[in-house]
Amino acid sequence: MLVVMKKDSTPDDLKRVVRFIEDLGYRAHPIPGAERTAVGITGNSGSLDPTMFEVLPGVAQALPVTQPYKLVSREVKPEPTRIRVGSVEIGGGRFSVIAGPCAVESEAQILTIARLVKQAGGHLLRGGAFKPRTSPYSFQGLGEQALRWLARAREETGLPVVSEAVDEASLRLVEEHADIIQIGARNMQNFSLLRAAGRSGRPVLLKRGMSASLEDFLMSAEYLLSEGNYNVILCERGIRTFSQHSRFTLDLSVVPVVQKKSHLPIFVDPSHATGVRDRVAPMARAALAAGADGIMVEVHPAPDRALSDGPQALLPTQFEQLMAQLRALGSVLERRLEPVS
Ligand code: PEP
Ligand code: MN
Repeated sequence: MLVVMKKDSTPDDLKRVVRFIEDLGYRAHPIPGAERTAVGITGNSGSLDPTMFEVLPGVAQALPVTQPYKLVSREVKPEPTRIRVGSVEIGGGRFSVIAGPCAVESEAQILTIARLVKQAGGHLLRGGAFKPRTSPYSFQGLGEQALRWLARAREETGLPVVSEAVDEASLRLVEEHADIIQIGARNMQNFSLLRAAGRSGRPVLLKRGMSASLEDFLMSAEYLLSEGNYNVILCERGIRTFSQHSRFTLDLSVVPVVQKKSHLPIFVDPSHATGVRDRVAPMARAALAAGADGIMVEVHPAPDRALSDGPQALLPTQFEQLMAQLRALGSVLERRLEPVS
């Protein structure tokens, strides 16, 4: 149920509506908008009678939300969500580039890459500290030390940092040191992790599971919003299909569909989707052309020596070239890619 407030309703009217919802034992989610404020209701098991709310002062109408994902849906919030992280704003017509190594490998490595990302005009720095690897014998990440180095890279460059949490213990550390908590494809349906991240004050970048339908994906985002974290960025990163020419199949067509169904920003990760360096730039350009709010790409100055995902890492010169192409394409498509000041 969505309670839509009148344009001339007062803050007290809103408070009264929220209290009324909470007294019924449900959760109220105020959603401010350019035109009007609405209040989403979650936690009810059956349908609610709209007249209960429509008689309250300041209420214009109460509407059922038809989608199973409620707070994520465009029905409850027609305006696209914008997320401010440090000096970067995600969404709202901007195209943001998150770039960095698959994993933080040393202080020198992350500082070198942070400088080149900044210099090339990237907006946020990525780097895994906790790596969810297919094999238990593969490099698992350097943990908290890696997060400290990432924070140092942020101090030096001003780039906000994104890092993955794989469980609740790593979530505590990532939220302490990083600006955005990444939840990876393999944990997209780790519901206890989603609930914990939903209670965090940090924005979350949620990657699509490799076998997740769009509805599964949006329902996972709903877990985050239902706990009160409305700063969620979705990220398409390729799904499993019968194609054998690519690590995964990048489902670019999901971008306009997500934008129709949800107000949340949608990013594209062409690195994990293709798994091969030479395919990353074409898919990154396509993501911008398709209307995505940004991309996440892996970059490494010595990919042959990378401890994970070397074959898909762009070389520094390739990244610089890609940024120049995105700026050119962005100016044609009226998408802004201003560098971080
Ligand atoms: C990553 O971005 O580091 C990663 C592991 O990606 P995914 O979860 O999409 O496989
Ligand atoms: Mn990787």
